[in-house]
Formats: sequence, C-alpha cells, structure tokens
Amino acid sequence: MSSVLEIIPLGGIGEFGMNCMAVRYGDEMLILDAGMGFPEETAYGVDVSIPNFSFLDEYKTDITAIVLTHGHEDHLGALPYLLKKFNVPVYCSHFTAGLAESKLEEHELLGDVLLHRVEPRDVVDVGSFAIEFIRVSHSLVDCFSLAIRTPVGTIIHTGDYKVDETPVIGEPIDLRSFRRYGQEGVLALLSDSTNATVPGRTPSERAVIPAFEEIFVEAKGRIIVAAFASSIHRLQIVLDVAQQFNRRVCVLGRSMQKNVEVADRLGYLDIPDGLLVSLNQTKDLSDDEVVFLVTGSQGEARAALSQMAIQSYKGLMIEEGDTVVLSARIIPGNERLISRMIGYIYKRGANIIEEKRRLVHVSGHASQEDIRIMTEAVRPKYVVPIHGEYRMLFRHKEFVKNHLGYPEENIILIENGDVLELDGERAAVIDKKEIGRTFIDESGFEEIASETVRQRKQLAYEGAVTVVVSIDEETGEIVGEPQIVARGVRGLTSTNGFTPIGNAVPTVTTDNNYLLGDAKRVIAAALSGASRQTLAEDALLKEHLRVELKRFIQKRTGARPVITFVIVKA
Ligand SMILES: [Zn+2]
Repeated sequence: MSSVLEIIPLGGIGEFGMNCMAVRYGDEMLILDAGMGFPEETAYGVDVSIPNFSFLDEYKTDITAIVLTHGHEDHLGALPYLLKKFNVPVYCSHFTAGLAESKLEEHELLGDVLLHRVEPRDVVDVGSFAIEFIRVSHSLVDCFSLAIRTPVGTIIHTGDYKVDETPVIGEPIDLRSFRRYGQEGVLALLSDSTNATVPGRTPSERAVIPAFEEIFVEAKGRIIVAAFASSIHRLQIVLDVAQQFNRRVCVLGRSMQKNVEVADRLGYLDIPDGLLVSLNQTKDLSDDEVVFLVTGSQGEARAALSQMAIQSYKGLMIEEGDTVVLSARIIPGNERLISRMIGYIYKRGANIIEEKRRLVHVSGHASQEDIRIMTEAVRPKYVVPIHGEYRMLFRHKEFVKNHLGYPEENIILIENGDVLELDGERAAVIDKKEIGRTFIDESGFEEIASETVRQRKQLAYEGAVTVVVSIDEETGEIVGEPQIVARGVRGLTSTNGFTPIGNAVPTVTTDNNYLLGDAKRVIAAALSGASRQTLAEDALLKEHLRVELKRFIQKRTGARPVITFVIVKA
C-alpha cells in the first residue's frame, strides 16, 4: 500500500457550484461534499448538473464515508445521486442533516441511508482518517470546516466560510480550533476562494439590520423581501424587524417554506407565536401590517417573486405602493433574468431596493482579509485554493503569495480531475482523471444523457430533417418518392417551415426546391447502391441513408441538422 495522500476534486474548481472532492489514502476514500451545479444548458431542458460519479466506480469498495460541510445546494444537492451509487454513511451537522433528509425523502432513500449528526469539535474516526468538525460562519447556519488527520499529515478543508464574530444565529467562527491545528502543524489548507477578489473583510450577517430598519420605517405599503431560502440569518433578521415594526410575516415559495419549517423545527429560527400568517390571513391585514418573505431573488420564472411581478402568484400581485427588497447577490449568469424582473416590478409601480442602493445583502464568503485570518491561524505548509472560477483561484494564490509571504511552490492551483499527491514532504499533481458532468431533469430526478442534450442543442441550432422512404420488401426497390420534411434548417426550409416534396408538386421553382429535389435523388441513389445486407436490416439502412444525406446537406447548405429516417416496407 502506498503511503501517499491523494486529493481529487470532482467539481467546484474553476466553476461555480458542484463542489465535491475525494480524499484517498491507500484503499480508503472519503468524499467531501456532493454539490450540484447550475449549467448553461438550462435552455435545453436541463435543470441542474452533478459531477459524473462514474469515475468513482473503480474505488467502489474503498469509499468509506461522505462528509458534508454545510447544506447549500452546491455542496449537498448531488447527495441523493451519489448515495444511489455508493450507499455509505454520511456525516454532517444537525441542520445539514435536516435539509439532507427532506432531499432523501423526495428520492425515497430516507430509510436506507445512515446519517450521522455531529456537533462542533466532534472528532469522528473513519479508518485511517480522524475528522474534526470546526464551526465556521457563513450565510447558512451550522456550517463546518473539516480538519482531517491522515497518516501523512493534517489537511483542513474550509468549506464555505467567512470570519463573522457577530452572527445572528449561533456562535462565531471557532478560530481557536484552527489555531490549535496551526500550532500542531497543518500539511495543506484547502480554502474557499469565492470572494478572493474582494479586498477587506466580509461584513457580519448583522450588517444589514440598519438598512432593513430604515426600509421598514419608510415603507407605507406592503413589504416584499426576496432572499435565498437558505440564508437563515437573513430570514431571522426579517422576522425580527417585522416583529419590531408590528408587521406579520407571510412565507411564500416552496423552498422558503421548507427551509423555514426545517430551521424552526430544529430550533435555529426564533419565531414568536402569531408572527407567521398564511396568504389567506394577509387579506385581513392592512398593507402596512404585512411582510412577504419570498423566493425568486434570481428572477427565476417559476418562483414567487417573478410570478407576482409578471402576472400573479396565488392571486397575489405586486402593486403601486409596494416596496420590494432584493436581499441576495446576483449569481453570475442570472443578470438578464433579474434585470428583466426588476423592469416588471417598476412597471407595476412598486419601489425596489437592491444591494447597490442599500446594504440589504452581505456575502457569506471570506474576502481577502478573512483569508488572511484563516491562513495565519492554520499556517499550512501548502495552500490549495478551492471553490470558485479560475480568476478567483488565481487571485487567491496572488493574495497568499504577495500579502502572506507564501512561496509560489507552496500554493497549488488544481483543476477538476487533477490528482494532487501529498506524501508529507512534497505535493504535486501526478495525474488527471476525466470527470464529466451529468445533467439532471429535476422534475423526475432523472439523468439526461449528454447525447440527449447534444441533440437538443443541435435541434436548436441546426434544425431537423425527417425522411420517409417506402421500400418494396421483395425487390428492395424504392416505392414512389421519398417524403422530406425540414424544420428550422437554413437553406432547406420553405417560408411556412414545412417543405413536403414528392406528392406535393411545388408551384414555384426555387433554389430550395432544387435542393430538395437533389436530396431526393441522393436518397434514391444511396438506396440503389446499398448492399443486400444493408437493405435487410433497418438500422443499417437508416444509418447508410443518414450518412449520405448528411454529407449532401452539409455540402450544399453548411447545416448539420438532426436527420431521422422512417422506413416503410411496402
Ligand atoms: Zn455555502
């Protein structure tokens, strides 16, 4: 057995989301986090992506545990899919477990999975690894960094964190434990880079309270606050300020209602009796007596806020006199959706307050001075920036090099699939695994084959051609003329998008019709040139015809449509 430690990120490096990492020693492997991502392919019916876990198949018997740092979707969302492949024990905080349970329930896995709830400073032994859970501050509650003792040294994985000495809920970050490991000696610090481009310190979760108080003083009508359902500190602030200004709170949107329910049940939210009201009950309240706490801060079409802005959400519409607060950051890629939604809200005559106008949102991630505090507490031999796009990882490296005096060779930039090997003396990327993404259709929790997504893209850009050919079963000869229907193919589509040839005789001769006539001849020629064996087997024949037609269309129009053949045996 080799005495080296391997760190292999499956996702989350050089991209936003899909955080997942394997840590391997000998024949033992831990999986740290199992996050989902939000791919650009949403236009093709893909809701989310997860790492392609098939890379782990060769380590199937080695995987001993899944350890979760916290409950955000980009760290937890892929858990059901990972557990369906490798059902191993899961270790996480109480709140993370609460969110994980509702996910596992949706996937009908709840009874089959061993979920271990751990407390801050608990140490769990899993084979050769001893994992300590260290409390950190973040926008969510009950979040951990992981200190993992291994036979070659200790590694610390920060998870998502910021240094918040005055969180709204729970205790501050446990810097004392980080320093304790720093004194012992830490081999590598795998550290959150999301905000590594931002100078200074990240403000405390409490920093948004004054802006909320001002808004509640000024607003004469209804207040609608859109936030991430997972920003539990923020939700508590809205509840507190509502109570202070004698407003009742109505929670709308599935994920918001679920998270409020879980956080309340587990005792993380402090909700005074009678503060929460149903949508029905708000009808008995005047406008200045109610706050709606809603989903949809990213402009998602199906979420409560967009629906209230564009038409109505369960009969509720944004109206003149309303104050809408967007208490969330813009996730990269969502700018246009959000901008359009803000336009709709203005059209309705409502006032809108966003991050740029008042301090209604603070980040949950470490800025540069937070990174300094963490790195100086842990004093690792190696710094490995994780979580973030490449520019963030790079700036993390530059900051640690220029401001914390780390030599270049002790800061390691890795990519998804890299195998980073540490033996206690040196660290090097020794191999690269091919790790793709798996697309998921959330409506049925089904995987969508990447070939399907590729075809959808091809349909969108190149269109489709369907050909129906009738063949005499006895002679193998074509009967009548092939029918061709082209949709969305440049140079091949008539103005109404429907181009029949064969039975329908074109009244006007155009280039397009010449082309379709030629296409028909290509098919006839391909048929007469087909071997007896090809003619006997539909699949072979279709492929033979498809290749010929594809070559013809591409040569004459440059298009590469999806081509489908229907063979009718007459
Ligand atoms: Zn997070």
